[in-house]
Amino acid sequence: MAKKRDYYEVLGVDRGASADDIKKAYRKLAIKFHPDKNPDDPTAEDKFKEAAEAYSILSDENKRARYDQYGHAGVGGASGAGAGGFGGGFSMDDIFSQFGDIFGDSSPFGDIFGRQGGNGRRVRKGSDLRIKLKLNLEEIANGVEKKIKVKRHVTCNTCGGNGAKHGTSLTNCNSCNGTGQVRKVVSTMLGQMVSTSTCPTCNGDGKIISERCDSCAGEGRLLQDDLITLNIPGGVAEGMQLSMSGKGNVPARGGVAGDLLIVIEEEEDALLKRDGNNVVFDMHLSFIDAALGTSVEIPTIDGKARITIDQGTQAGKILRLKGKGIKDLNGYGKGDQLVHINVWTPQQLTSDERETLESLRHSPNFQPKPGKNEKGFFDKMKDFFH
Ligand SMILES: [Zn+2]
Ligand SMILES: [Zn+2]
Repeated sequence: MAKKRDYYEVLGVDRGASADDIKKAYRKLAIKFHPDKNPDDPTAEDKFKEAAEAYSILSDENKRARYDQYGHAGVGGASGAGAGGFGGGFSMDDIFSQFGDIFGDSSPFGDIFGRQGGNGRRVRKGSDLRIKLKLNLEEIANGVEKKIKVKRHVTCNTCGGNGAKHGTSLTNCNSCNGTGQVRKVVSTMLGQMVSTSTCPTCNGDGKIISERCDSCAGEGRLLQDDLITLNIPGGVAEGMQLSMSGKGNVPARGGVAGDLLIVIEEEEDALLKRDGNNVVFDMHLSFIDAALGTSVEIPTIDGKARITIDQGTQAGKILRLKGKGIKDLNGYGKGDQLVHINVWTPQQLTSDERETLESLRHSPNFQPKPGKNEKGFFDKMKDFFH
């Protein structure tokens, strides 16, 4: 038997490494040597197991202390004394069941481990489904609950997903003795090597169906319309993708359902334009209303609202309706509605109208007298260059 490598050396950390460093180092190695990622490298699995074994010892305070004092002998090895039963080496399933959680659910690597089961066989994951969901501005602003029909593969209730006829049971596959894997001994220059591959008879299931379920013809799943309730949060945007785990397709003959991916599409609003979490409304006032002041009804996300226009309101002014915008996706409150004031200049006048306006043409109050707040283009330019 080859001499065991030092566990610290295996993980590439020094002897004083913190628990966190050890976890990080293991995570890195586990990803690097994961057999699924290295189908062409037969040594990857061994390296992967070696790292897992080192991690099992060094991540446990007691075992690490014993190992530090006595070396491999202190943590079991061939004798198996108190070492957690890893004396015979790790199986892949031990590794996944014990350390799958180090990546956590939110980890981008979670799925690498999530696909593995505890029975010597892979737990299959079904395919993801992708749908597009069109939302109007109101739905985007406040969030919305949508019930949609999705055609998806669901578990067959008659057989519970294993594909066997009611009352019959599955039998172990003879080709692989129920392991789902077949081993082949290959002679090479370096001696005999064992390679394992998925059993072609049972497709890796380890079980054979003797009589097929009538409802699903042995597939263990049925394609049907499923009514799914989606809770869309406020503040989503065009092209954003939400995912609901477990609402995709169930794989054939049992396993974990894939995810339902929901791609958001924004329906354009005729009156209100979105600008981040704000909505913008372009309002056109007559210059009489702008001069005298008025109260006008304008559209908002939540219906109509009445706003007051002060007398002497200038074109270009922006009114802000606080909190009348779109909910922030991350929960940071709500945006505003911005009302952009345009003043409409009449383009056609009757002779009476012309006369009335003509009589006001030289009236002192109609002469522009912009104050500090109404800087014109040149003032802005001057500010810019000074
Ligand atoms: Zn069935
Ligand atoms: Zn088989």
